Amino acid sequence: MTTPQVAIIGAGIAGLACAHALRQHGIESIIYEKSRGPGGRISSKRTDNSSVDLGAQYFTARDPGFAALALQAEQAGALARWEPNLAMIDDAGIQASPDTQTRWVGAPRMGAFAHYLARDLRIEPATRIGEHRSLTELRAQFTSVVIATPADQARALLPDLKVPAQAPCWAVWIDIDRDQPFDAAFVKTGPLRWIANDASKPGRATRRRWVLHATPSWSDTNLELSAEQVLLKLTEAAGGLLPNAFSVEDGHAHRWRYARPWDDQTAMADACIDAGDHLWVAGDYCMGGRVEGAWLSGVAAAQRIMR
Ligand code: FAD
Ligand code: NAD
Repeated sequence: MTTPQVAIIGAGIAGLACAHALRQHGIESIIYEKSRGPGGRISSKRTDNSSVDLGAQYFTARDPGFAALALQAEQAGALARWEPNLAMIDDAGIQASPDTQTRWVGAPRMGAFAHYLARDLRIEPATRIGEHRSLTELRAQFTSVVIATPADQARALLPDLKVPAQAPCWAVWIDIDRDQPFDAAFVKTGPLRWIANDASKPGRATRRRWVLHATPSWSDTNLELSAEQVLLKLTEAAGGLLPNAFSVEDGHAHRWRYARPWDDQTAMADACIDAGDHLWVAGDYCMGGRVEGAWLSGVAAAQRIMR
C-alpha cells in the first residue's frame, strides 16, 4: 500500500469527500477519527432493537457531481429516495406541504452512506487528535493536513481560526402506539423545528419511530438539562403537534453540541480555509451546514492540495 501523504482529521462527510477526491488523483490519505466509525453527524444511533437517524435526516443533491455520486450510491444499495408525505406546522395549524424535491436517505439507515464512502479508505478510528496524537505531530509527518471537524472542534485544535460558533440541537426519538396522518413536518412554532417518522424511510425495521429536533434557541437554552428531562419536554411538544393522541413505548434524547449554523443562510467566503503551511480546514459550515456542503468543502480542500 502506498504511504499516505495527507492526514485528514475527522471521518464525517467532509473528511471522506476529501480522501475520495485525493484518491482519484493518486494521492493516498489517512483519516483519524475520534469515534468508533465514520459518519459524524450523519451517523445513525443504535437502539436496543434497531437504529434511528438522530442526526442528518435526509439530504438533497443540487451540485451535479454530488448528484452523480448519489446515483452511484443508490445503485450500490447504500442510498434510497425518501418520498415522505410532508406537512408544515405553524401557529395556524397543520397544512399539507407536498413538493417534488429528491430527498436521499442512507439504506437501511443514514450511516450506510458514510460506510459506503469509507469502504476503500484508510481510517484510524478511536483516535482523537489533540489527545491520542497532536496536530504538530501530524504536520511533521505528512505533506498536508486537513482538519475536517465541526467548527468549534477545529478551533480547539487551532485557537486563532476564524470560524463561526455552531448551534446545538437536542434530538429525541420516541416509539409511539398510534399512526399519524403525515410522515414528517417542518415546524415553525414552539420548541420543535422538525418531526419525522423514521419508519417512513425505505428499509427501516421499525413502525412508528418518530424523531424530534428542537430549534437552535430551545436547544441552547436547555443545553444542560438531562436527557430524561428533554425527552419529557419534547415529547410533550410533539403531543401538541401530532393530531392522533399517542402513548410512548420507548424513547431517548441525544444532545448534538455542534449541530448546525445558527441560521440556514450562514456560509463562509470560501469553500475551505487555507490555514497556511499546507494546513487546510474544511467542513459543512464553510458551505451552509448541510451534507452536500460538507461534501463540497472536502472536495475543495483536496483540489487546493492538488494545486
Ligand atoms: P461531521 O459530520 O461533524 O464530521 C466531523 C468528524 O470529525 C466527526 O466524525 C468527529 O467525530 C470527528 N472529530 C472531531 N474532532 C476530532 C478530533 N479532534 N480528532 C479526530 N476526529 C475528530 N444536513 C442535511 O443535509 N440534511 C439534514 O436533514 C440534516 N439534519 C441534521 C440534523 C442534526 C440533528 C444534525 C446534528 C445535523 C444535520 N444536518 C443535516 C447537517 C449534516 O449532518 C452536516 O452538515 C454534515 O454531516 C457535516 O459533515 P462534516 O464532515 O462537516 O462534519
Ligand atoms: P430541503 O430543501 O428539504 O429543506 C430546506 C428548508 O426548506 C427546510 O428547512 C424548510 O424550512 C424548507 N422546506 C423545504 N421543503 C419544504 C416543504 N415541502 N414545505 C415547507 N418547507 C419546506 O433540504 P436542504 O436544503 O438539503 O436542507 C437540509 C435540511 O437539514 C434543512 O431542513 C435543515 O434545516 C436541516 N438541518 C438540520 C440541522 C439540525 O441540527 N437539526 C442541521 C443542518 C441542517
